[in-house]
Amino acid sequence: MTNTELRSALVRGREAVDETVAFWLTVNGKWEEETATARLCEQSAPYLRPITFNRPQEARIGADWLWWFIDRDTDRCFGMLCQAKNLKKDGKRWTIGFDQANKNGMQIKLLLSAADSLDVPATYILYCGNEEYRAGLQCRAHSTSDCTICPRAGVSVLSALGAEYLYDRDPTGCAVTAFQRSQPLEDLVAPKAPDGAMWETNFESCTGDVQKFLNQPQYGAARVAKQLFDQVSALRSTVFTKAHPSFELAVVPRGNPVYDLLPADRGHFSRPYFRDVLRGLRRSVPQYVRDAEAGRVDRLPAEVTAAVDKIIITYL
Ligand SMILES: [Zn+2]
Repeated sequence: MTNTELRSALVRGREAVDETVAFWLTVNGKWEEETATARLCEQSAPYLRPITFNRPQEARIGADWLWWFIDRDTDRCFGMLCQAKNLKKDGKRWTIGFDQANKNGMQIKLLLSAADSLDVPATYILYCGNEEYRAGLQCRAHSTSDCTICPRAGVSVLSALGAEYLYDRDPTGCAVTAFQRSQPLEDLVAPKAPDGAMWETNFESCTGDVQKFLNQPQYGAARVAKQLFDQVSALRSTVFTKAHPSFELAVVPRGNPVYDLLPADRGHFSRPYFRDVLRGLRRSVPQYVRDAEAGRVDRLPAEVTAAVDKIIITYL
């Protein structure tokens, strides 16, 4: 199964964001994250279906939306909590605001903790400006002749667990490494070629079903999960600490996780990275997502309405 139409919709969305950003850069030298998100949703419709509801102002934790990717045929799904962030230029320096704080604490910690309450990974949707704006920045797999990634990097996605690690390691240089470690949003779905086998530090410690997930092509929601997991797995492989050959249960009280026995290793991350990402991959769609879809937003649990004012549903 591929999902060519969804992929095309995300490409349209990213191109529209690039246009909007270029316009606002000309007008006043910057753009607003909300404007970019609105363009992304409008131009990717109906494949991105936003469902909005009220969120108490005091509950703001910095997350912008909760995104559920649902396999049409099987009900398997993957959820992630998203926060939009602009890549900003400050003279010659790039900044990304991972260190922003409010009275409740650092935004990145609040985002990770809100994701914990929802049992999904946290992610940043990075608005990186148009190509002219981000001149000089290069992706991690850059090819000088004809890079296929950099021109599409205007709307990118990065695991927040990875972002936290990059920030802790180098607070002043993390905007550049975050750009390098992110991937174009559209690459989460419908690749031209199937994803290949992943090399993973803890592969030998994984159960057979998780090994299959890592080394066999994945489609739909599982592919979205694998793409995001690949980001943290690649970061884990840059840290030369020994793998931790123990397991832990991925406790997903409201969920029905596809993989419930995962390596407990955390490398240099703040928490075990397998669980961080893979708890978002479920065998069935959470009831609150069905409620939102049916317009029963009054039934949404407090941990959802405290975290976001929007759920986006995408069928694969
Ligand atoms: Zn590149």
